[in-house]
Amino acid sequence: MMDQDRIERDDFERVAAWIARYFEEPGAYRVFPQVRPGDVIGALPAAAPEHGEPFERIFADFERIVVPATTHWNHPRFFAYFATSAAPVAVAAEALAATLDVKAMLWRTSPAATELEEVTMRWLGRLLGLPKEWTGIIYDTASIAGFTALAAAREALDPTIREEGMPGRALPALRIYITDQTHSHVEKAAIALGIGRRNVVRIECDAEYRMRAGALRARIAADRDAGMKPMAIVATVGTTSTTSIDPVCAIAGVARENEVWLHVDAAYAGIAAIVPEFRSMLDGVELADSLVVNPHKWMFVPMDCSALFVKNEAIVRQAFSFVPEYLTTPDDAVNYMDYGLQLGRRFRALKLWFVLRHFGAEGIRQRLRRHIALAQEFAQWMRAEPHWEILAPHPLSVVCFRYAPPGLGEAQLEARNAAILEGVNATGEVFLSHTKIDGRYALRLAIGNLRTQRSDVEFAWDLLKSKAGVLP
Ligand code: PLP
Repeated sequence: MMDQDRIERDDFERVAAWIARYFEEPGAYRVFPQVRPGDVIGALPAAAPEHGEPFERIFADFERIVVPATTHWNHPRFFAYFATSAAPVAVAAEALAATLDVKAMLWRTSPAATELEEVTMRWLGRLLGLPKEWTGIIYDTASIAGFTALAAAREALDPTIREEGMPGRALPALRIYITDQTHSHVEKAAIALGIGRRNVVRIECDAEYRMRAGALRARIAADRDAGMKPMAIVATVGTTSTTSIDPVCAIAGVARENEVWLHVDAAYAGIAAIVPEFRSMLDGVELADSLVVNPHKWMFVPMDCSALFVKNEAIVRQAFSFVPEYLTTPDDAVNYMDYGLQLGRRFRALKLWFVLRHFGAEGIRQRLRRHIALAQEFAQWMRAEPHWEILAPHPLSVVCFRYAPPGLGEAQLEARNAAILEGVNATGEVFLSHTKIDGRYALRLAIGNLRTQRSDVEFAWDLLKSKAGVLP
């Protein structure tokens, strides 16, 4: 008779061995699986089993059904979106965090989780060169961290909204300033916070896809003259399409002149600020109100871990703290449930702590430098080859480009490059994604995976040329 409250030690060992093997051969699977929508559903029963099944059977189905239908973000030739990867040490920490299974909401429900979060956020803030008075809080994603920052901005602007709600036309329109390169979560946050998409204003960019501070200043002045209330500016360090870097210092000047909350979204690129030669992209951040960086993007921490730093943590607490009797405590300590929508929180600081200790700051810097150098090298190869066009500046580890043989119009170039993308991804050897820049279809190659070597980038380049028909 199976004891369903436990599994055998051997079963844990099998899982550990499987994980170790997976990391030894991260390229063993197709990076993009050979499946069609519905295949996984079709392979599974319509109803949950009535009676428990042995671990062996479940694990066999994991290997048979789940793994081959997975897009392998850990594959060294995953170059799509922002390439990310899990450090094995962080996976070990994640297993331990799941084992402890704390709900890190009150200090007393998880003293170690709470205090490790305080310590790791101080460490990370220091590595990023943030003022030491700033407070770091871990969320699941940059989208939720951004939502939280904007809720704090709303609270800072008008603390009555918390009680009264947003009574529509009785309030002047609250305005948020972004660009057409800003990540979509800001508009989603505007929807959820009752601000409305119409009040999210896209400020014009310069030729390198960076917000123009002068245009921002003029738009804020015009909005004030029209009786609106400027609430927040979101500057991006490392935009999603091209990794352009908004001029934080100049934007912060406009924010301070106007007493408007400045949130800096550095979800992908911010981690690179721990590398001294790239720190200047955060110059002026000390004048901002909040900053988000994602260790789950470019610091080898598995999904999910997003670090929000705020100048004034009291505003975030004022926006979100709401304590029912059953959660009151006499402890003189941080209770992280006061800083967001969530009550129960995962012990995310554990994997961050393991990663920071395992690599050390210098180990992380070395890897980021290597990724950036590889991307720059890829761009050089492309420049040296006829008919390949780089479509945007590439200050970090992402290159946007297209194959542009002469004589093709925009629509034909789009069709040609979309076909190259399909061809590359269909091989299962390399995974790329695309974007549009100024209406032009662009392929993207993003480097950020711990395991990517120069030979992987060379492989991708040869495959691209072959799918473009310029290599056999
Ligand atoms: N901000 C930027 C600049 C991004 O590129 C992304 C995702 O790629 C996000 C925010 C959203 O990140 P998350 O998935 O952590 O919500």
